Amino acid sequence: MVKRLSQKRDAAATVKAHVRRDDIVSVIAGRDKGKKGKVLRVLPDKGVAFVEGINTLVKAIRPDPQVQQSGGFVRREGSIALSNLQLYCSNCEKPARVSRRISGDRKERICKKCGNPIGKA
Ligand SMILES: [Zn+2]
Repeated sequence: MVKRLSQKRDAAATVKAHVRRDDIVSVIAGRDKGKKGKVLRVLPDKGVAFVEGINTLVKAIRPDPQVQQSGGFVRREGSIALSNLQLYCSNCEKPARVSRRISGDRKERICKKCGNPIGKA
């Protein structure tokens, strides 16, 4: 049987993001410019991502006795535009522009500076 990669993604959802969950990214614009963190979630159709420790906001939580939730404030990651993120190359220790290469049935992202693959293929 031929394995198909993401066939379920069709015309309606062809928006692609250059970052994925668990990637380490650098923030290149905005309040947290220069910081880096791990991608928690990507919403490609909205063009945003959530990155650990980036754009944190303080959210007020209402007490909810039903779930034993006490009220208070909680720090949460806010969304950040994908265009403000760049993949981080651990080899160069810099944010990197990437190119894509297909090796076998895997797509690799290659750092344009050092030529090393970035993240998990
Ligand atoms: Zn590199």
